[in-house]
Amino acid sequence: MAKLQQRRTQNTEGDFYVDASCIDCDTCRWMAPTVFHEAGDQSAVYHQPNTAEERVKALQALLACPTASIGTVEKPIDIQTVQQSFPVCIDENVYHCGYHAESSYGAASYLILRSEGNVLVDSPRFAPPLVRRLEDLGGIKYLYLTHRDDVADHQKFHDHFGAERILHEDDIVADTRSVEIKLSGYEAFSLAPDLVILPIPGHSKGHTALMYREKFLFSGDHLAWSERLSQLIAFRNVCWYSWSEQIRSMRRLSNYPFEWVLPGHGRRHHGNRQEMTQQMQQCIDWMERSSDSGW
Ligand code: SF4
Repeated sequence: MAKLQQRRTQNTEGDFYVDASCIDCDTCRWMAPTVFHEAGDQSAVYHQPNTAEERVKALQALLACPTASIGTVEKPIDIQTVQQSFPVCIDENVYHCGYHAESSYGAASYLILRSEGNVLVDSPRFAPPLVRRLEDLGGIKYLYLTHRDDVADHQKFHDHFGAERILHEDDIVADTRSVEIKLSGYEAFSLAPDLVILPIPGHSKGHTALMYREKFLFSGDHLAWSERLSQLIAFRNVCWYSWSEQIRSMRRLSNYPFEWVLPGHGRRHHGNRQEMTQQMQQCIDWMERSSDSGW
């Protein structure tokens, strides 16, 4: 629960506010960009919602916030309705789960609804309203984990839904030793005809990405859109394993067609395949320049 007495002074007057516990994960700023912005290395409300759509988005951000840093002065009587809005459809049968976890620094997780069995991509918080919605939607067959940082409540999702967890062996630590499907090597792994897992070492040694129907790329912390640069980027300052290896992985990834980049951190992006091909080349060129400059 956000604390009114810790309301940041950078918030504009009104019902919604961010308190001092914000960890600057960026989630509220991309979920409700007309309400939240960055102010002094944390978020703040710069515009109070004044339409029904803005209010729903602000309340969705409140529920997604990993540290419960967003509050309202008045008790939100519509909060249960907004709880029901998760998972939020992105495109076709692909959804954003919301309920980000602090242990993964607010990484986004996704749901793919499939008649052959649903796939949860990275772990959200094991929040009862979300769990009930996932039950209604048919449960979870696979819990695919892009890499070691975004595993959050994987054990609880496995215990509750019997989901088979998938993680590359190079990213397995004590907490994930019990995952059911341990990937190895650097060849593409076909989980099903529509689901291909691509090893892309760099951010971490065992980082992988999931390609769904050659349209949706779940990129973890390997690749994301930068609003500031208006291009696809990788995160050099949080590259834990090898930047040169990450560039090589990016080159391999550029051989695959896709239309959506759905990351753990950073912004998502949608474009046609031709644009994505150009974007990937631009990203690789930018990474190589970053490599030269030591940025
Ligand atoms: S979602 Fe929460 S923790 Fe993340 S930036 Fe917004 S207020 Fe801060």
